Amino acid sequence: MTVHGFSPPHSHGGQPLQIAVVGRGFSGLMMAIALLKSVSQPFQLRMFDPQPIISGGQALATARSTEILNSRARDLSVSTGEPKDFTRWLQANADFRGAVSAAIPGFGQIFVPKSTFSDYVYQRFSEALAQRTDVSVQMSNEGVARIRLNDNGLFTLGLADGNEAVYDTVALATGYGLKAPEKHEQGFDTVLKGPSEATRHVVVMGNGLRAVDQVLQLRDGGFAGRITILSRRGFLPQPHTRMPADAVFPSQPMPSQLRNIVRFVRNACAEAEENGWSWQAAMNGLRKRARTLWASLPPSEKRQFNRHLRAIYDSHRNRLPADVHARLERELASGMTEMKRGTTLKRIPGGLVVRWAGQSTEEHFAADDVIDCRCLSPDLKDPVVADLLQAGLATTDELDLGLAVNPAGELLTPKGRPVGLFAIGPLGLGSLPDIDLVPEIVTQTYAAATLIDARSRPQLQAG
Ligand SMILES: Cc1cc2nc3c(=O)[nH]c(=O)nc-3n(C[C@H](O)[C@H](O)[C@H](O)COP(=O)(O)OP(=O)(O)OC[C@H]3O[C@@H](n4cnc5c(N)ncnc54)[C@H](O)[C@@H]3O)c2cc1C
Repeated sequence: MTVHGFSPPHSHGGQPLQIAVVGRGFSGLMMAIALLKSVSQPFQLRMFDPQPIISGGQALATARSTEILNSRARDLSVSTGEPKDFTRWLQANADFRGAVSAAIPGFGQIFVPKSTFSDYVYQRFSEALAQRTDVSVQMSNEGVARIRLNDNGLFTLGLADGNEAVYDTVALATGYGLKAPEKHEQGFDTVLKGPSEATRHVVVMGNGLRAVDQVLQLRDGGFAGRITILSRRGFLPQPHTRMPADAVFPSQPMPSQLRNIVRFVRNACAEAEENGWSWQAAMNGLRKRARTLWASLPPSEKRQFNRHLRAIYDSHRNRLPADVHARLERELASGMTEMKRGTTLKRIPGGLVVRWAGQSTEEHFAADDVIDCRCLSPDLKDPVVADLLQAGLATTDELDLGLAVNPAGELLTPKGRPVGLFAIGPLGLGSLPDIDLVPEIVTQTYAAATLIDARSRPQLQAG
């Protein structure tokens, strides 16, 4: 499908710049917006994804209007240099204005349904496209299976249907991979649309936002049976404060050892509370320094952090709106939902085999339905990612959490020299903490698009 059919003027060698974006989740759509706004010369963009919907990705694809994004509206602008773009869009939206209390000034502090954010992103994409009569965008429902660097510095994409196409630049935005959202590779359901009448007990595996979403969706759907949240670590998301929580953090240099960093962060949170801010404001401040901090840690300390602290950090950075958190608390207090700490070993008919925390024996845990809401991680086995690694066009980060990238998302190769391929969003999680979140993805796409623009200019002159 060509979204905006137009034959752009040829810019170099008789061809406009050819750009491919692989993946049409939030990262892919955001990359397209950044390219449309930043690359000054005419180009042809092709966006690949076998998922036919263009919705803003797995996080938003299944959105019901009741599902609330857990970032404040003020943090969700997709327009660089215009932090109020989203809140202005909300204010200009008569339906939304009518549905939300006028007592909320500027909408900056509110939390909005995922579908609202998805509409905003798509509208900004359409507007950016309408501004560019010299660009054409084509949507392809093919998966990309292979990327090769040719001798002339161009990339050949091998498509799942066996065809090939050549591009000047490629941005991978394959996020959590191709797997069908309804099924986990180990055979667990990842979404429970509606339990049957016979269902008395549902186990929700995981402890993050998706797990909480799933519990509340079950209740919204009228399920009145027992729910167990089964998690290895047992840290549920913390609440946002009702205060603004603008980022604060001590300006002193951070200590270099993990143990001392933890103490430093604890003190920063306590200090923020004493000064009338909140620990959430200090965590927001920490997030601004997370990237340099992570880069400074030796691999052994990064591993230690992942083993012992990641779950605590995630539960404090990915927070729930206060009302949603209060609902979760009520749910747990009712006794109809409980949190149990343990490791799932396998699914068996009628339940799971579990090793409870602190015990060495395995136990059969009966459940009518089991839903896997464990945290997603970049899928390094996704065919195109695995192939890039094998071809030496990419390498993993020190901890093999994702692909090694620089802040603009450019892939580093085993030789360290970037070749002009980009990986946007969660694929770079091992190099850039928090690159799975909207504000960080937005910043990264504009950095990548600016680089692509700068590199395409000499070609323009040469032509
Ligand atoms: C429940 C939930 C709530 C969230 N809430 C927030 C929030 O409030 N605030 C915030 O900042 N962040 C939030 N996030 C995180 C953030 O939105 C996600 O990290 C982000 O959506 C990732 O998008 P993505 O496009 O990189 O990946 P995905 O959404 O995984 O999309 C990747 C796309 O690539 C496609 N693909 C994969 N492989 C190929 C291939 N080989 N060829 C072609 N296509 C391919 C897939 O089909 C898929 O459509 C949330 C995440 C979840 C799961």
